[in-house]
Amino acid sequence: MSSSVREKLTLPGGAQKLLLHSCCAPCSGELMEAFVESGIDYAIFFYNPNIHPLKEYLLRKDENIRFAEKHGVPFIDADYDTDNWFARAKGMENEPERGIRCTACFDMRFERTALYAHEHGFPIITSSLGISRWKDVAQINDCGHRAATPYDGLVYWDYNWRKGGGSQRMIEISKRERFYQQEYCGCVYSLRDSNRHRRDQGRERIRLGVKFYGDDDQCMREPADKPPHIETCS
Ligand code: SF4
Repeated sequence: MSSSVREKLTLPGGAQKLLLHSCCAPCSGELMEAFVESGIDYAIFFYNPNIHPLKEYLLRKDENIRFAEKHGVPFIDADYDTDNWFARAKGMENEPERGIRCTACFDMRFERTALYAHEHGFPIITSSLGISRWKDVAQINDCGHRAATPYDGLVYWDYNWRKGGGSQRMIEISKRERFYQQEYCGCVYSLRDSNRHRRDQGRERIRLGVKFYGDDDQCMREPADKPPHIETCS
């Protein structure tokens, strides 16, 4: 049973079609169900070449495909062009999460989303990235608006997906669906930094593919002092 009732959504400007950039199933689950309930016509655009290694990328993508198929939502599986991502992040390998490397990372993913939307007749784009409370929403929205700007008529929808119980429903859906629970943001640098943090705390290194929502209560007990680079999504 969901913790609260969703408001009925309408697309900005009376638009009829939406392209959702999805980072993973746990973050996009709440958005996907909200769009279905609101009768919004949408497709998922999965473009996340930041995710490292390939095993983790496939875990996150396949989970998202499974949920899209459950709802009959088109899933656009875009490039895994990691060479371009590493080129974009070059020189920023030691930047902290929420810093300039993340801005470049969001820019890259949103630029491709906006291009696809422009070429395929989607007037609105948005992203699941902002629902994670470990992300800087303003940073994400700046990148989204910047990506849409070059295209006449294309709008980045900066709806606050956390409000109205969205954050709590995100967890509830993830537990109900037993989604894979990633334990670092996504790139090799966030994996490195998360493991360093764990080492300093005397915890074991991250093991890929072993943790799922609902296995225990960890996902419901996010401590207030948890560093932003730990156990978030990309
Ligand atoms: S920490 Fe996350 S948002 Fe930042 S560069 Fe790495 S994958 Fe991208």
